[in-house]
Amino acid sequence: MTGRVGLWTETRETRPRPVVHRQQMTEDAHGCPFCDPAPDDDRLLPEAADRGVGRWFGLHNISPPLDGPTGRADLAVATDHWPTLSHLQPHLATVWATQLDVQLQLAARAPDRWSLLTTAVGVSAGASQHHPHGQVLTPLAPPPLTVAQQQRWAERGTSTAVLAEPLLIESVGGVHLVAPLVPLGPLDLWLVPMRPVGLDQLDAEVVGALVARWLVGVHRQLGRAVPATSAAPVDIKTLLHPPLPDGTGRWWAELQVTERHAPGVAAAPLVDVVDPPERHAERFRSAGRSA
Ligand SMILES: [Zn+2]
Repeated sequence: MTGRVGLWTETRETRPRPVVHRQQMTEDAHGCPFCDPAPDDDRLLPEAADRGVGRWFGLHNISPPLDGPTGRADLAVATDHWPTLSHLQPHLATVWATQLDVQLQLAARAPDRWSLLTTAVGVSAGASQHHPHGQVLTPLAPPPLTVAQQQRWAERGTSTAVLAEPLLIESVGGVHLVAPLVPLGPLDLWLVPMRPVGLDQLDAEVVGALVARWLVGVHRQLGRAVPATSAAPVDIKTLLHPPLPDGTGRWWAELQVTERHAPGVAAAPLVDVVDPPERHAERFRSAGRSA
């Protein structure tokens, strides 16, 4: 009647999607904008961290040049060009914790502002460089969606539903790794502290351990093996949301496998009735059992 043909598959990851060019970026470290900045490079910031597995430092972002009245964007950058943050490298948890150390320092530069602590790996996640780096985006005001999300945490029943036992994959230091009720993709997870706490009570080591636990589960389910000096083995994005500046809400984080997102749903989570979140949680639990 409409002249249109529809296709449907119950498996979200096999639905039609735009081709993801996962290896568009050059793998050559020569010309990398983050490798070996000169000591007098005016992008360099004083923030830095080292947990014994590689130094990370702060760098003012010049591309895109977000600065001035609309907000600010700064980078946490690893000294080493390889491996990427989605390779299953030794000390993966500590590498993520070190990145977070610098991101927390960058966010603390504007304590009266809300900052998004985010990391993108791979083209489908929006990254423009393979070199391990994260961003701290400090807009003039929190986005309306962020405000709404943080207010939801205060509603009766929200944390009870999100932290329910069937969705739990692992708990470390009072932080739950959970399958979200309405994920953007089948390998996405959330990090949620059991109690509403702010960034000042965030333990970077705990977050690093749980991000690494997620990546182990992702790799076991994808079954990809790649050398340590290759493009990202899997495209991922993490978004760590602090509470609002007035204290509303809690820090929480989204862990996304962006290459598994259905097309056009960047802002529209899907309720998966065929493969419900309880099954995602069970899959991740068994993917870590023999680790
Ligand atoms: Zn580099």
